[in-house]
Amino acid sequence: MSIRPLQELDTESDFDLPTGLLPDDESILFRLSSNLTADGKKEHAVVVITNHRLLKFTVYDGKPELEQEYNLDVIKKLEVQNLVGNGRLLIWLEQGSYCIARYTLEHHHQYLVAERYVNRYLEDHILRPIEPLEPDTCLRCGRPFRRNTRICPFCLDKRRIFLRLWEVMKPHTPLVAAVMAVFWLISAVNLVIPQIERYLIDSVLEPQLNDIRLLLILVGGLAVGRLANMLLSVLRGRTMARLSANLGKDLRNMVYGKIQALSLRFIDQKKTGDLMNRISRDTNNIQSFMQRELPELVNQVIMLVAMSFILLFTNWKLTLLVIVPAPVIVLAQRMTWDRIRNMYRKQWSVNDQVNSLLQDILSGIRVVKAFGGEQREVSRFSAYTREFADISARNEKSFNTFYPILGFIMGIGNFLILYFGGKLVLGEDMLIGELWLFTTYASRIYGPLRFLTSVPRWFHNAMISAERIFEVIDQQPDVTDREKPIALPRLRSKIELKDVTFGYYKYEPVLKDINLTINEGEMIGLVGHSGAGKSTLINLICRFYDVDEGEILIDGINIKDLRQRDLRNQIGIVLQDTFLFSGTIWENIAYAKPGATAEEIIKAAKLANAHDFIVKFPNGYDTKVGERGQRLSGGERQRISIARAVLHDPKILILDEATSSVDSHTEQQIQEAILRLVANRTTIAIAHRLSTLRYADRLVVLDHGRIAEMGTHDELMEAKGSYYRLVEAQKALADMKAV
Ligand code: ADP
Repeated sequence: MSIRPLQELDTESDFDLPTGLLPDDESILFRLSSNLTADGKKEHAVVVITNHRLLKFTVYDGKPELEQEYNLDVIKKLEVQNLVGNGRLLIWLEQGSYCIARYTLEHHHQYLVAERYVNRYLEDHILRPIEPLEPDTCLRCGRPFRRNTRICPFCLDKRRIFLRLWEVMKPHTPLVAAVMAVFWLISAVNLVIPQIERYLIDSVLEPQLNDIRLLLILVGGLAVGRLANMLLSVLRGRTMARLSANLGKDLRNMVYGKIQALSLRFIDQKKTGDLMNRISRDTNNIQSFMQRELPELVNQVIMLVAMSFILLFTNWKLTLLVIVPAPVIVLAQRMTWDRIRNMYRKQWSVNDQVNSLLQDILSGIRVVKAFGGEQREVSRFSAYTREFADISARNEKSFNTFYPILGFIMGIGNFLILYFGGKLVLGEDMLIGELWLFTTYASRIYGPLRFLTSVPRWFHNAMISAERIFEVIDQQPDVTDREKPIALPRLRSKIELKDVTFGYYKYEPVLKDINLTINEGEMIGLVGHSGAGKSTLINLICRFYDVDEGEILIDGINIKDLRQRDLRNQIGIVLQDTFLFSGTIWENIAYAKPGATAEEIIKAAKLANAHDFIVKFPNGYDTKVGERGQRLSGGERQRISIARAVLHDPKILILDEATSSVDSHTEQQIQEAILRLVANRTTIAIAHRLSTLRYADRLVVLDHGRIAEMGTHDELMEAKGSYYRLVEAQKALADMKAV
């Protein structure tokens, strides 16, 4: 097997090892950079781990010198520790542990991979492919990623993300242009109004002039200006609402569509709450950024530049007074920004935890109730909400203290203008209207300035949200159709597994060397301890995951060559935890076959022994099932899902513990329904209660990912192997319960 050392990830450790170092049967597994000495000084050293030895080289003038060497036989295990700002690698020997390397955190991830891999290798000495772990720290700076993401807030490439967001906006260019135009018009009106006022004060309000007509015209002009301002504001609000809704819709559909298309591997790794957050909260953040904050930014910059020019041309000396407090503000803002950012980061992280907890508890509410854990959950939740309340109150308090102070400092310029400008007016070097114009513009100039100081905060927020969305959008489903998949609308359904090996992580195979042929129309019972790999085998046959080694054939065709849609259309699943969507019973059954006729649906319900109980409900088939079908009993839900499978009419049927926790009458009804369902179909049934598999043609016993035994119930009982032991164990358990 060819082993790919992870050295390409680690440029610092790139140098040529002394020639003749490794005999032919020895190959390098890891080269790890150790750039700190045990007492934290800089050094250039490399730890090399081969399939036989662990070696440490220190590099002097580009030349490696072997400093330490251990045979792997004497090493009990490796241990990686994350210290503050750095990490270290310990080796455990007979006599205790010993620090062999110390490094800055950007190397931490590789050490984790090596630790995991080598510790496993020390157990069984089997060389497996090296697969990087999903990192949980940034590979560039070594700081932890934000929870549930691979986003490092410190290394975010904001420019790239922003340009990508801009692409999303492109289809809405006309609307964006309209919003911008309105913003510009509003700015123009806002700039003109003080000019009219100045003219009014300086040139019209003169007793000796007494021009009522001109006064009327100017007041009329002011009224028209204010009216225009109001109308434009309404227009701006309405256009932005439209743009906002469209963009939000696009983003949500993009993420949702992508999540649907992704393979289970990605979804398994993420929490439902986190994915929901990405669809709702992150899209909201971006929506508000693109519609409100970004155009506002452009608008404020225009206002700032235009007003600064006008002020400079009117009186440059006074203008300087307006600008004097600006550097103080920028400085103060800079100093507090980092603190504020950290404060808010903590708040978001607690908020994420609250959401995830909520999601967990709501989906697992039955378990909570079953174990009487309500009070415990209430206190757990309130501990989080208390922490969130404390943090957000503290943050808001700091924020709301800081900004009024900033506002006051900004306002100081106004007093300076009033004093010095007032002196100019008294000395008849300036007209009152000009001073009016000045104070009006000056007070408005601080608005944009203040706005600009808050830009980094929301820009950063929006970019993180965008990155969380792009992270989903960029995921490549690892199960994909090949270029020209074979279309096979109707399978005959003989299933063959040949030398199948698979692990959710490649270095940890869950199924090993599985060889199994399931004939057309045969019913196979999958048996084994929990964790033996039964569900995994099903996942592979449904091609929710691709096998690592070997192949799975259906009717002689490798399922990787089949069109996924055709494959899934032929497979029906009746799951342990029957999932019903909120909606009516009718809709739930019909989900299997959109466009099914009423006869088909009722026939399916009858075959599933569901019709009788359905028509007893006051609303019959139109009975609404609550969220996740809570208003129906477990047995009823199962029969509805059987009806769904009957309607689907698959060639291959998968039953996952279809009859658990129901009374014996219901169990009989369900068994009957299942017998009807499995007729003429290739069926694979997983059941923990072995008695429910008595109709299976053959039983396959899985043990630690391998097929331990295969045969009929009687044959296996005769053989007195693992199946026999499982049956005996279950009998003993049943007896204990009976007592
Ligand atoms: P069974 O159905 O026999 O109880 P599974 O096939 O569910 O067993 O699990 C087999 C092994 O694979 C277990 O050790 C389990 O922890 C692991 N496993 C199952 N699903 C995943 C997953 N999505 N990611 C990682 N490991 C998993």
